[in-house]
Amino acid sequence: MPAAPALQDRLARVDEEIAQAASAAGRDPAELTRIVVTKFHPASLVRALHELGVRDVGENRQQELSAKVAEVGALGGMTWHFIGQAQTNKARALRAVSAAVPLVVHSVDRDRLADALGSAGSAAEPLDVLLQVNLTDDPGRGGVAPAAVEALAEHVLGRNDLVLRGVMGVAPLDETPASAFARLRACADHVRALAPQATWMSAGMSADFAEAVAAGATHLRIGTAITGPRPMRG
Ligand SMILES: *Cc1c(COP(=O)(O)O)cnc(C)c1O
Repeated sequence: MPAAPALQDRLARVDEEIAQAASAAGRDPAELTRIVVTKFHPASLVRALHELGVRDVGENRQQELSAKVAEVGALGGMTWHFIGQAQTNKARALRAVSAAVPLVVHSVDRDRLADALGSAGSAAEPLDVLLQVNLTDDPGRGGVAPAAVEALAEHVLGRNDLVLRGVMGVAPLDETPASAFARLRACADHVRALAPQATWMSAGMSADFAEAVAAGATHLRIGTAITGPRPMRG
């Protein structure tokens, strides 16, 4: 785990850069949620971030998420974000996490996954979800094609055990982030027109969060710029 002062410095520097990006885009920084991506790091990093005031963390593997939540338990005010590809057979485990701590799943990209996540829980405690949009040309990558986003949104809106919060995307490496995020923004606007509570646009990582803020992102998923390099997976 990085030394706490270094962690605190990097967090403060990134928050300053987010504030500058917001100001350059004429946006209120209070509209932005900075999610610290803690994947591959030990659960102790989540505790250290919580002590520094972080209230949103992101994980991309269900087993790692479940293990960390079991280890650190409910930390006051902490919301967990699942940002990785999900298989339908992980739906029960994800709903077990959401029964224990606040959880948002950013990666719903097909009807079958929405149905699995919905039916693994209940309407009494609906799960917050985002639709992951594939911003690449490769249909094999995660995410729903932009042209199919509205149909998927309608499907999710038809379930009372899920709450549609918006869209999520990752900018491809072979394109400028601004043009990729503009496509995501168009999807976000279409989804908002269908569902007024679906206001989130989850976009921007360490290398491109300023472009994401300019394009209208509401939730930034930032890992290495705050945590330092990720440990190798054992
Ligand atoms: C790992 C990851 C991030 C954070 O990436 P950094 O480059 O470390 O900021 C953001 N989003 C997703 C989906 C990720 O898997």
